[in-house]
Amino acid sequence: MTVTERTLTGTGVGRGIVVGDVRRMPDPLPEPAHTPSTIGPDAELARAHAALQATAHDLRDRGARAGGIAQEVLNALALMADDPMLLDDVKSRVDRGITAERSVFEAFASFAQVLESSGGYMAERAGDLGDVANRVIAHILGVSAPGVPESDTPFILVARDLAPADTALLDFDIVRALVTTDGGPTSHTAILAREKGLPAIVGAKDAEVLVDGDVILVDAAEGQLVVNPSAARIDAARAESEARRVSRENASGPGQMADGHKVALLANVGSPKSVDAAVAALAEGVGLFRTEFLFLDAETAPTIETQQAEYAAVFERFPGQKVVVRVLDAGADKPLPFLTDQGEANPALGRRGIRALFAHEDILRDQLTAIANAARKSKADVWVMAPMISTADETAEFVGLCHELGLTKAGAMVETPSSAILADHILAEADFVSIGTNDLTQYTVAADRLLGTVANLQDPWNPAVLRLIREVGKAGHATGKPVGVCGEAAADPMLAVVLIGLGMTSLSMSPIALADVRAELSRFTLGEARELAERALSARNAVDAKRAVSTALSITH
Ligand code: PEP
Ligand code: MG
Repeated sequence: MTVTERTLTGTGVGRGIVVGDVRRMPDPLPEPAHTPSTIGPDAELARAHAALQATAHDLRDRGARAGGIAQEVLNALALMADDPMLLDDVKSRVDRGITAERSVFEAFASFAQVLESSGGYMAERAGDLGDVANRVIAHILGVSAPGVPESDTPFILVARDLAPADTALLDFDIVRALVTTDGGPTSHTAILAREKGLPAIVGAKDAEVLVDGDVILVDAAEGQLVVNPSAARIDAARAESEARRVSRENASGPGQMADGHKVALLANVGSPKSVDAAVAALAEGVGLFRTEFLFLDAETAPTIETQQAEYAAVFERFPGQKVVVRVLDAGADKPLPFLTDQGEANPALGRRGIRALFAHEDILRDQLTAIANAARKSKADVWVMAPMISTADETAEFVGLCHELGLTKAGAMVETPSSAILADHILAEADFVSIGTNDLTQYTVAADRLLGTVANLQDPWNPAVLRLIREVGKAGHATGKPVGVCGEAAADPMLAVVLIGLGMTSLSMSPIALADVRAELSRFTLGEARELAERALSARNAVDAKRAVSTALSITH
């Protein structure tokens, strides 16, 4: 019997090519029905209690096996299942004649509501509660728990999407690639895959039809998966994958293209751990130091001394290299209690980034003073930039303040369409600009970057985004000032080539992405990058832009 090949598409994350067997993650359980109990409150409570305890035990057990951060995450989830107030709530519901599964569902939902209304970090934990509730309900019903299937042999995981409790536990020796039917390029799953260098296809709706044991080939660069790939296709894919591995290993040293054109390859850092990773990945410096990550838990503004110590610890790791410090980007996805206005209806469009800092100029002055003090005592070449700039006036005000406080290189992030369109005026005021493609994409397509239901729009290959980047590239060329990219787009090797073709002078990314981007850039001349950029710019949508570039690559290279 001949089995025919079939190709399904989605959004690729990373560049890897993997062939393997499918293992499906069980779909989320349906909401338990409102049917009345037939066994009485005591028996229902006993079922619920046993399932809560078993779930907490199971989570702790998995945590102990995983260790590290995964163990912390899973222990926190176990505490939710153990919570005595939750059990009281379940009891009050079964006493009203409701089944154990429905009572557990309702009690967790009301717990989640309380967390959501507390805002900030607590609100983000509300999503984890749904996952714990599902595990408890699966125990009660005696069905397989949602989660990554256990296996001793490698497989390709196919799921709707992954919950945080699942991603914390992924064993990358066993799970070789990920395919999700939901989600987009900035979903939690895609970010994890990118960080770990795991090939993934997200938002592949037609992958619903895949079943355990199907053999598929995942080609992340193409955003394609081939069901029942032929032997010839598998051979070709393996050869391609091997060629990429060799070129990655051979690409070392500073970033440059095939014709010698230099491109500074920098790292995005936030935590001390990411600084270690940046140094290990031979970053040429830091293109985005997300300072707000250091203070996410702080209730009050950190003192100059506290900040100075934190910044100095990062600067000392990059002697003689550039470190671009971003002043606090508070608001929307990164609320800081001491800077963020509560209760805005649309925080992503509210007082975030530089707008919040101008509203609290004392905090901005303190931060710039701390950066300047730390810079003076270090050997790093310290630059500073402001997030969420939308006008030349804001730029002038920020740059003026930086210069006044002794920071000589001050720039603006281009994250709004207005600052991209007016890049010439922004660059007349700033010493440099850096494009935050995550926000620039969200604001260009008017789709919240945190919202799964519109995640398919969050694609920096969108020619609308690329045309805005072209404006910035032109302004950089005209003024001779540096223009970089520090959003996730820079971590996509093929898109990185396009960005250079659009006139970018540096790229900054998660440290894990540096080797692949370095290798990919070394395969093209600047002229070729410009031609590829033209193809992407004239495409009708993001998928066509990516395909136009990858087709051109497969013909010419
Ligand atoms: C961006 O928006 O692309 C960016 C780099 O900033 P952040 O992701 O921290 O908002
Ligand atoms: Mg941003």
